[in-house]
Amino acid sequence: MNLILMGLPGAGKGTQAEKIVEKYEIPHISTGDMFRLAIKEGTALGKEAKSYMDKGELVPDEVTIGIVRERLSKPDTEKGFLLDGFPRTIAQAEALENLLDDMNESLNYVLHIDVPKDKLVERLTGRRICPTCGATYHVVFNPPKVDGKCDNDGAELIQREDDQPETVKTRLEVNVEQAQPLLDFYREKGYLVSFEGDKDINDVFKDIDVKLGELAE
Ligand SMILES: [Zn+2]
Repeated sequence: MNLILMGLPGAGKGTQAEKIVEKYEIPHISTGDMFRLAIKEGTALGKEAKSYMDKGELVPDEVTIGIVRERLSKPDTEKGFLLDGFPRTIAQAEALENLLDDMNESLNYVLHIDVPKDKLVERLTGRRICPTCGATYHVVFNPPKVDGKCDNDGAELIQREDDQPETVKTRLEVNVEQAQPLLDFYREKGYLVSFEGDKDINDVFKDIDVKLGELAE
């Protein structure tokens, strides 16, 4: 099964990806991992990508697509793949379609984990960190035993700059703007399946599992 996973930061993509990979035995292919692998293996495209990254420049689409092509040609994708973080633009989505065509493959679903923005703000701003031991907590989902104190050493927990409400809201806005055209693109093509992500992790996976089960039949 050939899948793309989409969702805003905090929507729980990582957790769902782990569950999908475990049950359906397909690799979770994130953009970052793909670049790291190509660079580590020293492929021509990996070297080219690195030269852009070293200069702090965006890697051009043709290089990125080439790296996706290399990754999707590896034997572990025999049963399919779960792409995460790619495509990011319509141009990349169209290039992916051509690439899959060339490989006599096609997408099955674009899985979209949908969580209302205010819920994401709650999730993302609730994180607290111990400055002493680095332990992480969440005021709602994983609270310390004593409010505001680390369970390990009693240190006063802090909120990182990245987790402040204004920073989180701005980050989400940027992501929404980037994701919306892609969601529309895939909805029009009939690939998009949205899942209500504002519930228990296991219940979200059950919904995804039902949908993927149809493919496995
Ligand atoms: Zn601590």
